[in-house]
Amino acid sequence: MTIQTDTLMMKRALMLGASARGTTAPNPAIGCVIARRDCILGEGATQPGGRPHAEAVALSRAGEAARGATLYVTLEPCAHLGRSPPCTDAIIASGIKRVVVALAFDPDPRVSGRGVEKLRAAGISVETGLLGDQAWTTLAGFFSRVTRQRALASLLFHDLDAAPLDNADTGLTAMRSNYDLVLSATPHQGTNEAWPPHFLLRSARDDGPLALRALHNSLGAGRPRTDVFAHLDDLLAHLGAIGHNDVLIEASRHVLPNLATEENKESAEAEHPTDLRNPAAPLSKPFTGEMLVEVRETSALGSRS
Ligand SMILES: [Zn+2]
Repeated sequence: MTIQTDTLMMKRALMLGASARGTTAPNPAIGCVIARRDCILGEGATQPGGRPHAEAVALSRAGEAARGATLYVTLEPCAHLGRSPPCTDAIIASGIKRVVVALAFDPDPRVSGRGVEKLRAAGISVETGLLGDQAWTTLAGFFSRVTRQRALASLLFHDLDAAPLDNADTGLTAMRSNYDLVLSATPHQGTNEAWPPHFLLRSARDDGPLALRALHNSLGAGRPRTDVFAHLDDLLAHLGAIGHNDVLIEASRHVLPNLATEENKESAEAEHPTDLRNPAAPLSKPFTGEMLVEVRETSALGSRS
């Protein structure tokens, strides 16, 4: 297997994983390819709801052909018995000879290194770190939830006063589909609102709470919370606890300052100077860095007319 072939196959696994973003919470969106030389024998991604895992999908597609082949996967295969049997057992049973992993350290304490160890103990050759930085981009929210008990939030500025609720903007639709929860933040109108908010968040400017409504929720609607979250961090901790990895919060320019003050943006940077996408961080040690706020503007999406 040449380095070029390895890179090509891992890129395909990354593409498959990225295509499952926003559908797999609380599990990470993983991609997997099984190949012999240049020939793909089976492939797959984590299925909606998080199961079956990508490796199980790819192995079932490859069938007997997997014997002696190489398996490419974007995160360390699981080694624990959860609601499905561990992928490491399935990989060993399939006769796979070699495994290439992009991010070799699943932060889940039930896995964290045991998956790779188990494969090696079974005589499988395991290589790690190929395109790990790219895998990280898709998995940062999952790492944030597991290691910091907090969903990872991205904030999206809208040019309009009211956050658009329709899906007419294809750039916006594509962006939203990468998140397992999309919230729209507007000033709270009181208890008579026709569409009651899911969460209330104390405004950073202290001028009445913000109403957060779910525009998309891959985990189902859940029960609205009637108490007011004092800080964005508290809300993200709650969202992490109920299984959300990646959350997009949309707001107009007028509302956004109430959500994220310059002060907490600065403190997030000071506390967590590690670049969120630093490829070295998750490979060598458990993830500790987080960028709390990633600000994007709708104008940067390019398709708004
Ligand atoms: Zn698994």
